[in-house]
Amino acid sequence: MQELIEKAAAAVKSSKLTIALTGAGISVESGIPDFRSAGGLWTRYDPSEYATIDAFVSSPEKVWEMLKEMGEIVGKARPNKAHLGLGELERMGYMHFIITQNIDNLHQAGGSRNVIEYHGNASTLSCLWCGRTYRSEEKLHEHPPRCSCKKVLKPDVIFFGEAIPSEALSRSYELASRAQVVMVVGTSATVSPANTIPAAAKRRGATIIEINMERTHLTDTITDIFLEGSAGSLIWDLLEAVKKTSSGGIFPA
Ligand code: NAD
Repeated sequence: MQELIEKAAAAVKSSKLTIALTGAGISVESGIPDFRSAGGLWTRYDPSEYATIDAFVSSPEKVWEMLKEMGEIVGKARPNKAHLGLGELERMGYMHFIITQNIDNLHQAGGSRNVIEYHGNASTLSCLWCGRTYRSEEKLHEHPPRCSCKKVLKPDVIFFGEAIPSEALSRSYELASRAQVVMVVGTSATVSPANTIPAAAKRRGATIIEINMERTHLTDTITDIFLEGSAGSLIWDLLEAVKKTSSGGIFPA
């Protein structure tokens, strides 16, 4: 494993543009379950029943039962060594952009500044019917939160069946087309279109470093360096390997 970590560190150090695509797995060590975690939130709330836009439109009160519980878990979560390690790599000039599928704000809390939130952000709520927008904290004590027009508000996160915010979409593909290294961390790469980003970068010659507890469909197809294990310890080891041989990034973000 040490040899693979050093190989990954060398790729990161020689890259002029390194991006990361992160998924729910990077936040598991912060206590937020991914879709696979046994006994977690998602065993009680089937995502196909609770995380689709059709479900929200037809039964917003029911979907808010899940959103309230998810909000409580996310509210208590703190960045783990994976978020902190990526933040430190950015500070050193070796990580340029993170494209995250997560809506938990932990990359920003972990020190990353260049974060593209591919699936939106839960800090605001919008009314699908009249278009008004509110800060989430304004509505913390309302269950479910309602608009002044009386309709139930929706957090500005992307549900299955909704379009990706156009700026996040175009910026991500633009970065993928130029990236020399892509770190794919804690994602099963099954949710489209986020899962097409690594292959788009690979076609333009990027080196793909994948960090996951288990193999995914990317591992045997496009991954160049597979680091198997927890994101927290592996990103920290990668950071240490980068630090061992450098005094600072040569390609500032
Ligand atoms: P997923 O649940 O489909 O897959 C998670 C992946 O992470 C799996 O491949 C798993 O093996 C891996 N993993 C689990 N723990 C890990 C660890 N400690 N270290 C490294 N890898 C680990 O998640 P996805 O691919 O992100 O797709 C699910 C969708 O639901 C995405 O849109 C996702 O962002 C969203 N979601 C977000 C959150 C969050 O904001 N934290 C939580 C749950 C789901």
